[in-house]
Amino acid sequence: MPVQNRWSDSDAQEAIASYGAQGVGVDLALRTYSARLLGADPQLVLHGGGNTSVKTTVVGLLGEPISVLCVKGSGWDLGTIEPQGHPAVRLEPLRALRALDALSDEAMVAAQRQNLIDPAAPNPSVEALLHAFLPHTFVDHTHSTALLALADQSDAAQVCREVFGERVALVPYVMPGFALAKACAAAWEAAEAQRLAQGGPELEGMVLLQHGLFSFGATAEQSYSRMIELVRRAEERLGQGQHTLQPVVLPEPQAPAAALLPILRGALGRAAVIVGCPAHWILALRDTPLTRSVVDDARLPDWASRGVATPDHVIRTKAWPLVLPPPPAAADRAAVDPGALVAWGTQVEAALATYLANYRAYFTRQNQRVGGGKTPLDPLPRLLALPGHGLIGVGRSAADAAVTADIAEAWATTLLAAESIGRFQPVNEDDTFDMEYWSLEQAKLGKAAEKPLARQVVLVTGGGGAIGEATARAFAAAGADLAVIDLDGERAAAVAAACGPRALALRCDVTDSAAVRVAFDRCCAHFGGVDIIVSNAGAAWTGAMADLPDAVLRTSFELNFFSHQSVAQAAMAVFRAQDRSSGVTNGQTAPSGRLGGQLLFNVSKQALNPGANFGAYGTSKAALLALMRQYALEGGDAGVRVNAINADRIRSGLLDDAMIRDRAAARGISEAAYMGGNLLGAEVRAADVAAAFVALARMERTTGAVLTVDGGNVPAMVR
Ligand code: ZN
Repeated sequence: MPVQNRWSDSDAQEAIASYGAQGVGVDLALRTYSARLLGADPQLVLHGGGNTSVKTTVVGLLGEPISVLCVKGSGWDLGTIEPQGHPAVRLEPLRALRALDALSDEAMVAAQRQNLIDPAAPNPSVEALLHAFLPHTFVDHTHSTALLALADQSDAAQVCREVFGERVALVPYVMPGFALAKACAAAWEAAEAQRLAQGGPELEGMVLLQHGLFSFGATAEQSYSRMIELVRRAEERLGQGQHTLQPVVLPEPQAPAAALLPILRGALGRAAVIVGCPAHWILALRDTPLTRSVVDDARLPDWASRGVATPDHVIRTKAWPLVLPPPPAAADRAAVDPGALVAWGTQVEAALATYLANYRAYFTRQNQRVGGGKTPLDPLPRLLALPGHGLIGVGRSAADAAVTADIAEAWATTLLAAESIGRFQPVNEDDTFDMEYWSLEQAKLGKAAEKPLARQVVLVTGGGGAIGEATARAFAAAGADLAVIDLDGERAAAVAAACGPRALALRCDVTDSAAVRVAFDRCCAHFGGVDIIVSNAGAAWTGAMADLPDAVLRTSFELNFFSHQSVAQAAMAVFRAQDRSSGVTNGQTAPSGRLGGQLLFNVSKQALNPGANFGAYGTSKAALLALMRQYALEGGDAGVRVNAINADRIRSGLLDDAMIRDRAAARGISEAAYMGGNLLGAEVRAADVAAAFVALARMERTTGAVLTVDGGNVPAMVR
C-alpha cells in the first residue's frame, strides 16, 4: 500500500494541548506527534529503527535560555514515543565536536551524556551528532523499504539522482557514528553551496546509500511531509518495475508447518547447546504471498547471500538467512511419511551445520581484517527460509521471534522491489560485520536477565477456568509463552490476552482426540513446538456409586481420564519430533541438547481421599493419578518429566459461591471457616495452585511426584 501523509492539523493541536498540560513546549509536542506518525507505519520504521529530533530552547535553573537538541533516546520506539523519549542535549557543545578529526564511540557517548539536561535521561541516539550538525529545526530519519529498494541498487547513486533530482543530497555508505555525522554535514553544505551558486530547489533531505532516508524542515509538518513525498517518489519509480517469478518445483501438497517446525526447533536446540546457548528457541513463521515469493523462487540461495536491507537489521537477522531444504510431500497432517520427515530432519541438520561453519569462517575472516580482538557472537541463524512455507524468525520468546519476522518481511519487500527494477545490492560484508560487531549496536539488544521459564512454550487446558487462568498467568509471569485452550473460546481468548500479545487462544473440546491433535498442531505452527503441558480441564459429577448410571461414569472418565490421555499422547508426539536426533550436527546423541518436555496433571484430593457421592469424579481422578505415574515411568528416558498437583477446596467452577454457601450452611459454620477448614486454617486460592504448577515445572530432577496444595489435610496426605 502506498505511504500516506497522515498529518492532521487538529491532531497536532490536540498534541500541543495535551502535552502542554504536562509542561511540554510546542516544539517537543509536535516533534513527538510527527515521530509517532512515522513510527506507526512499518514501511517506514520498524522496532526501534529510525530517529527524529528538534532543535529548541529550554530554560535553565537561573532562568537562562539554553539551546538544545531533543533527539530520540535509545530504548524508545518511534511508534510509542513520549516527550521524554527525546531527551534534551546542549546543542553548542555537540556542534563544537565537529572540529575534531576523529572521535571514539566511547568519547562520543560520554560527550552526549555529559551534555544531557536531565542526567537521568536515556542515552541519545547513536545518530545524535548527525542531527546536531544539520542546521534544520526538525530532522526525520527512516529506513523506508521503498527508499531502500533504490538505495540498495548496484547503481544506487544514479537511480536516486534520477528519481529525486537535486531535492536530496546523496551520501555514500559510512557506518553510523561520528564519521557519518561529519560526512552528512559536509554533503549538505556542498549541496547547499551548489544551490546558492546555480539556483535550484531547496534541499529536502538526504539519501544515505545502503542505509536510509533523512528529511528536514523548519516545521514538524514540513519535515514529515517531505519524508512522505520522497518515499512516494521512490514508490512511483518502483511502480515501473516488474517482478517476474522463477518458481521452483516443490512437492505438492507439502508436509504442513506443524509437522516441520518441531523438527526444526529440535535441530536448532541441539546446535545451540553445542555452541554454548540455551537449547530452547521460539519460532515465528510468516507464511504470506510476500514471503512465499521469496522462498519459493529459484533465486532464493543467491538472494539469501546478498545481505540485509539496512545495516541496523543485522543484529536481528544476522547477515544471511539459513536456507532450508524443501519439505517432503504429504497428503495431509496425518499422512506425512515418518521416514520422509526423518530424512528431511537429517537434511536440516546438515544445512544448519554448514551455516554454523560459514558463520565461523565469516567471523574469522572479518576479525582478521579489523586486527583481531572481537569476541564472536553465537553462530546460530536467527532467520530461516523454508521453501513452500515462508520466512521464520528465531527468538528467545514469541515476541522476540516476531520482531525478527517483521524485519524479515521488510527485507523481503525491499529485495523483491529492488530486483523488479534492477539488482538488490545492499551493504557489503565488511560494513555489515562492522555494524554487527559495533558495541553501540549490540547495546540495543539489551542484556537483561531472562525470567526462569523464558523460552518455554506452555499449553494449559481448561485455561478459561479459575485454576487454568491463574496457572496461565503465573507461567506468563515466569517468562513462558502461552497457548490457552478451553471449551469456551471467548474465555480462552480473554485469558490469552492477559498473558501477552503473542499468547495463543484455542477453542477445543479435549474429549475429542482429533480436536486435541489439531490444537497441538496450531500451537506448533504458532511457536514451533511445545514444552510444558498443564492438563487441567476437569469437571465433577455426583451420585452414589450403587445408583450411578453408566453414562454418568463414562462421561466423567471421558473428561477426567481419557482427555488427559489424548493430551498426553499429542504432547509426546511433539516432544519426540523435537528430539528426533540423527547426530549429523554433533555426532552426539541425547541427552545433550535435547528439549525433553513436561506433563503436569491436575488430579484431585478425591484421587487419594474419596468423598461420599463423588465416586464418578474420584475414580476417574484416581485413574488419572495412575496415568501420571505410567507416563513418568515411560517418559523418563526421553527427558520427559511428569508430575501432578493434588488440590482441594479451591473457589472455582467446580466449587462456586453457591456451593460454598450451601456446604457451610449444612455444616453450621461460616463460609470462611468452611474454606479455611484445613491445618493452616486458611483458604487455598487458585493462585496457590498456579504457583505450585510453576514450582513443579522448575523442579528439574522431579518426576512421578504428587504435590499437595490443600492447606493441610491428614486423610489426603500422600504418605
Ligand atoms: Zn539509520
